[in-house]
Amino acid sequence: MLDVVIIGSGCAGNTAAIYAARANLKPLVVQGLEAGGQLSLTTLVENFPGFPEGINGPDLVENMKKQAQNFGAEYKYGALLDADLSKRPFRLTIEEDQIETRTLIVASGASARWLGLPSEQKLIGHGVSSCATCDGFFYRGRKIMVIGGGDSAMEEANFLSRFGSEVTLVHRRDQFRASKIMLDRARANPKVKFMLNTVVEEVLGVEANLVSGVRLRNLATGAAWRQDVDGFFVAIGHIPNTAVFRGQLETDADGYILSKGGARTNIPAVFHAGDVQDRTYRQAITASGAGCMAAIEAERFLEAEGH
Ligand SMILES: Cc1cc2nc3c(=O)[nH]c(=O)nc-3n(C[C@H](O)[C@H](O)[C@H](O)COP(=O)(O)OP(=O)(O)OC[C@H]3O[C@@H](n4cnc5c(N)ncnc54)[C@H](O)[C@@H]3O)c2cc1C
Repeated sequence: MLDVVIIGSGCAGNTAAIYAARANLKPLVVQGLEAGGQLSLTTLVENFPGFPEGINGPDLVENMKKQAQNFGAEYKYGALLDADLSKRPFRLTIEEDQIETRTLIVASGASARWLGLPSEQKLIGHGVSSCATCDGFFYRGRKIMVIGGGDSAMEEANFLSRFGSEVTLVHRRDQFRASKIMLDRARANPKVKFMLNTVVEEVLGVEANLVSGVRLRNLATGAAWRQDVDGFFVAIGHIPNTAVFRGQLETDADGYILSKGGARTNIPAVFHAGDVQDRTYRQAITASGAGCMAAIEAERFLEAEGH
């Protein structure tokens, strides 16, 4: 019987592990299929406090993991496949193992939706990004492309226009899911150029491991061409990793966990941490902060029950 199981090994899960381990709770961290979480996909992180020269994303999460292990946290490979949260202790199926735990911290993140092109996948962190707040600064005076037609694409395009010499917004249709106000704002921005009915067929630069351009196709005319691009931002949404909790944890329509205040979910002893509940900030530091909150709440919960 465990006191704390943490689902996810990104910033939120690792930080929760540091706090829970230092509270002597011997947490078990289930790493998931993406050990280290989203930061393991990127290169330089310049906005995590404490690293004046920046730090590589994979190093940052690995350091967090080592820090948690130093205090006694255990890490387990594999994914949570099933969870029975109907009574305590909670019963978890992690690959072929069954585990029981008194508290659960869900830090399973929200994965960015990508276009799915092999070239795009190879260049994530090398010119391809899903986060303007994180990576916009790297493209000062450079050519930026944003993909998408929803509010987040409009928001990212506007934000990126502070940095780029030009921002091209590429959308596969000529209708938008974006709200009128966000669309009008992007349209009024002199630096944002719209390219509609257009799809990206390939991101160029794989040989040099750095984005240099894209191959585009107009769906209405069939015309194909190449365009120079330095920063390629995919803004077509995120998928919160909550499918395994469906019908048990309350979520919004998109699957983000609904918070009941602090780190609490609708189920006592189940706490949320990080991007799995946060559709607004989605940063390493906010995820870490949320991991800290969840661990403190789990510890106080156990304490109140006399464990
Ligand atoms: C390319 C890129 C660059 C970024 N750059 C920055 C930056 O410079 N600065 C910044 O502050 N933020 C940056 N971010 C955002 C930052 O990475 C996220 O906000 C942060 O990683 C969220 O942490 P998290 O722990 O909540 O979730 P994640 O990092 O998404 O981690 C989720 C974890 O849950 C695990 N998991 C999922 N499902 C299961 C399951 N069923 N069972 C077990 N485990 C599971 C996954 O394996 C993973 O380990 C970037 C994101 C991307 C994609």
